[in-house]
Amino acid sequence: MLRYVPSRSGEPCRPPIRWLLLPVTLIALAVLIPAPVALAGDAPNSLGLSATYDVTADIRWDAGRMSVTSIATVTNSTDTPVDALTFNFIPALIGHMNLREVLVNDEGSTAQVDDANVVVSLPVPLDPGSQATVLIGYDATFNTTSKKKKWLFSKKDNVVTAYRWIPWLTKRHSWSTPNFGEPYVTQTTSDVRVTLTSDRAGVSYATTGHQAEVNGASQTFVAHDVRDFNFSASPRYKVTTTDHNGVTFGVYTLSLSSSSLLSYARTAFDAFSDKMGVYQYETLTVAEIPLGGGMESPGMIWIPSNATSAMRRRYLVTHEVAHQWFYGVVGNDQATDPFADEALSEFLARTIIGFRNSRCSDANLDGSVYDYSSTCYYEVIYIQGADYLDDYRRRVGDDGFWAGLRDYYEKFKFGLGGTLALLNTLDSDASDNGGGHEDRFPSLYPTGGG
Ligand SMILES: [Zn+2]
Repeated sequence: MLRYVPSRSGEPCRPPIRWLLLPVTLIALAVLIPAPVALAGDAPNSLGLSATYDVTADIRWDAGRMSVTSIATVTNSTDTPVDALTFNFIPALIGHMNLREVLVNDEGSTAQVDDANVVVSLPVPLDPGSQATVLIGYDATFNTTSKKKKWLFSKKDNVVTAYRWIPWLTKRHSWSTPNFGEPYVTQTTSDVRVTLTSDRAGVSYATTGHQAEVNGASQTFVAHDVRDFNFSASPRYKVTTTDHNGVTFGVYTLSLSSSSLLSYARTAFDAFSDKMGVYQYETLTVAEIPLGGGMESPGMIWIPSNATSAMRRRYLVTHEVAHQWFYGVVGNDQATDPFADEALSEFLARTIIGFRNSRCSDANLDGSVYDYSSTCYYEVIYIQGADYLDDYRRRVGDDGFWAGLRDYYEKFKFGLGGTLALLNTLDSDASDNGGGHEDRFPSLYPTGGG
């Protein structure tokens, strides 16, 4: 994702000075506040399991509230029994959530809210190959401000934004970061079905999926091979739909030019399809949102209303469309490995809009989202990361480089890649010219070891 007030070049500006105080404040708080009841170690890593999701959400528009009932059909695809499951959804932390009910196979169960996660205890262990249904019902209130990433679950100017709101199997991460970095990691699902109902008439929904059914005030959307399902909604949306190379492009705008957004999206879509391989979803939705920054979802991108300059719109659309290939189809642990999604998407975007030098001094590229200041996160991971990949491309040559990138894409399609897997796959196609990653990725390529 990308945020902050735009500079003339269209990229995020440096944050206001008050942000610089945040890490110090957090450190002070960490010392004073006792450890929470649920420790990180208590939340099991549920990434090895698979699930499909059947979800209903009822929006009470004027009240700014949403009631969600999500049924995950979970299969234990690991080789050991599992006695608890970790689900991630951000209203648990920033939506003033009331956890209404948690049922496992229709029986009441215990669950613990832990940061933006809910850990559900299974009454009986789930054996390898076995299935269980987990129903999680919650009520949440949309935020009305953008601060501290609250715009990801908000209602402002008659527009609702809901990001990562479906409880989805995950590995626990802390949601708060010292920058705008994203702390998510989820597997793709073969099937997610979402029915959205609003008590406000005339609401249009921009979603990850495609519309499957309309039943009175309810609209049902489905998506396949996606690692989350997000939506924005508004009675104010102007909607235009066009076909482009067999993919339905839907553009949902408030005040931005829909033809401009569509044009940048098509250019990026064509360039990345050509370089990486065909786009994998039936739809590509471009939706304007009133708060926050550019944001990627599978099959959808959000562009903020403040992208009023053509350069900023072009930059944001191009970067977020690149995420369809890296983050969307090839996922990664976005918290521990931001290079794998952000540097790679920025690199692809900059093959269209041009590269530039970083305004922060050189730093390691193997850190997590918790390791970088808000001032230099973008300048290091995005700018230095993209430059690193472009320098590498020139060193190994275009043929080997793009072959390596396509290999990585094919190898991890609909799965989880990562920085080490990316660099190793690139090296394997680079004959003798690859390698040399020790300086910038010391934790991945330790020197002096065996
Ligand atoms: Zn991004």
